Amino acid sequence: MQAAVYQGKENIKVQEWPAPALADGEVLVRVRYVGICGTDLITYSGKHPRVTPPRVLGHEIYGSVVEAKPPADAKWKKGQRVVIYPLISCGVCVPCQEGNTHVCEKLRVLGVDTDGGFAEYIQVVSEQLVEVPDTVSDEQAALVEPVSVAMHTVRRSSFRPGDTALVLGGGPIGNLIAQMLRASGARAVMVSEVKPFRGALAERLGFATVNPAQEDLREALQRCVGEPFADHVFEVTGVSAAYRDAVEACKVRGEIVFVGLPKTPPEVDIQRVVFKEIQTSSSRVYARQDFRAAIALLQRRAVDVVPLITDQLPLKDAEGAFQKMLGSDTSLKILLAP
Ligand SMILES: [Zn+2]
Ligand SMILES: [Zn+2]
Repeated sequence: MQAAVYQGKENIKVQEWPAPALADGEVLVRVRYVGICGTDLITYSGKHPRVTPPRVLGHEIYGSVVEAKPPADAKWKKGQRVVIYPLISCGVCVPCQEGNTHVCEKLRVLGVDTDGGFAEYIQVVSEQLVEVPDTVSDEQAALVEPVSVAMHTVRRSSFRPGDTALVLGGGPIGNLIAQMLRASGARAVMVSEVKPFRGALAERLGFATVNPAQEDLREALQRCVGEPFADHVFEVTGVSAAYRDAVEACKVRGEIVFVGLPKTPPEVDIQRVVFKEIQTSSSRVYARQDFRAAIALLQRRAVDVVPLITDQLPLKDAEGAFQKMLGSDTSLKILLAP
């Protein structure tokens, strides 16, 4: 089969790759769409500490069942539309024992620690598959993984209907968190974003926006939310300036939810955090139930993922897709179609 294989820093080759052989309980999936994510970009830049080449990347995978080996054949039939839950947990560490398998001490991810979805086929164990109903389109299904990240984030926060929120970062995850908050009954949601394309998209989807490089954040909040602070601040950028913004813009006794992954430890003014009695929370990937909840939300059109898809490219253009994502500010979610 054809696969886009990471060969080392800034080098992805589309080449012949051994097709997966199925063991008992495994399912072969024909990949229809695979999204390129920030994690894949970090790998492509040669900065992911765990990825060793050659590796087939990609963990945002939608496809259809080709074949299932017993006992998986009892549930999974040829042609069934599926998304893949890409986390693999050890099952024995304390977080796993307590049911928090997504924060397993030895967490492994498809497309990072094992081969992923930048290929025509992938084999997974039955438990990694989540069924996609016919009322969810192919494009929507391709975005289930990022929607699950947003779902998990909002579920991790103390957000309640009627609260206000500021989302720092208007990329795919920040945008989806904003949509999820609005769908959950937020009084007002503002998106802070420095890149014009991302800010304009958030605006097009009906959100108040601010460019914190050009306008004072608290003044913008006053203008759009009616108060110079937000009840909840979601930090989705990982950029050091945003941690200052988060503390500044958070209401006294409000909440900051950390989602972005800073490349180096950021400076956070803890004195301000203490003086304002700010609560903090954090969110990492998603649990299995977030996948099911994300699909349900997509099914009833509570979040709109299609405007986030800026490009759909064949697998053979994988390298170009990565360069496009790194080199331009006008690509948000690129889907590859193997
Ligand atoms: Zn992802
Ligand atoms: Zn574990």
